[in-house]
Amino acid sequence: MFHPILKRKFEYFTNYFDAALKSEQTGRRNFAQSIVLYGQDSIAQYYLATEIARQLNCQKDGAYDCDCINCNWIRNNQHPAVLTISKNDNKPSDDTSSKVISIKQTLAINSSLVNTSDYYRVFIFCDSELEPPSEAQQKHLSEFEGLRFKFPQENWLPLPLNRDVLIEASANSLLKSIEEPPERTLFLFLTEDKEDIIETIISRSQCFYVPPASSYNNAGCDCEFLNSIFADYPAIKKVNVFNLVEQLESVMQEKGLKLEQVLDCMEFYLVEMIKRNINTGSAGSKVLIQKIKQDMLKLQHAKKQAQAYIKPQLVLGDLLFSFTE
Ligand SMILES: [Zn+2]
Repeated sequence: MFHPILKRKFEYFTNYFDAALKSEQTGRRNFAQSIVLYGQDSIAQYYLATEIARQLNCQKDGAYDCDCINCNWIRNNQHPAVLTISKNDNKPSDDTSSKVISIKQTLAINSSLVNTSDYYRVFIFCDSELEPPSEAQQKHLSEFEGLRFKFPQENWLPLPLNRDVLIEASANSLLKSIEEPPERTLFLFLTEDKEDIIETIISRSQCFYVPPASSYNNAGCDCEFLNSIFADYPAIKKVNVFNLVEQLESVMQEKGLKLEQVLDCMEFYLVEMIKRNINTGSAGSKVLIQKIKQDMLKLQHAKKQAQAYIKPQLVLGDLLFSFTE
């Protein structure tokens, strides 16, 4: 079972894998040997990948607070068979590359698979940076503190893979291993957009969108206050606009937010709404996405108004009113 922190944040994903991992224990495989996690939140993806690895290797029943040796190894990022593969991690000693996941790294994986293993081998492919976390990242990391998972190195952060890091030659050298891995082997690739990974990997993988775990946008601004403002969206009523503007103004005052920040939050909020609906593919969500895209254009107009120092009340009033159309 996934940790409650992850279950709360990623209900769909964790329910799916809870069921799939349970059937794995009875010997029936319900997920591919290669999995791509995509979305904006690499940190969340890394924790989800690690938690999958932990459950696959647990000596007991996979409970989130299990303290068997495998679970503890994985929490400390020291498990011999659960490996992070990035340009900064798990390089052969003669590998001098520093900007890519090199072919030496992937060939080392291929040859390690020739040997049998008592463990469930999990390879987590991502990009990474060796930098102390920013304030916004620290805030985000603290949301997962309860997991007690360590990263592979100090001042290490996962980043999404792209084609400049997981270069074609390295990716292609893995294909045979991905297609016909030994039993109890799993490849995980973390990226922002499926387009950022070479098709030969994508076509052999099961892909999962991981929605952003937090309400913080890239600027570290907590956009949660928009939940109540957008409660009726896309059917905001004209009669409510005045009220909503008042609400927004008091939030701005309370949190010391500038108009530009509120508009950035709205943009983040709408983009996230599109992402949530793209995956369903239903006719209703197509109409909704169309509507959101139109409203995003209105939002760009409002941003220009904000730069021209037009009063927040007017900008927000105009904007929300235009959303009702
Ligand atoms: Zn365990």
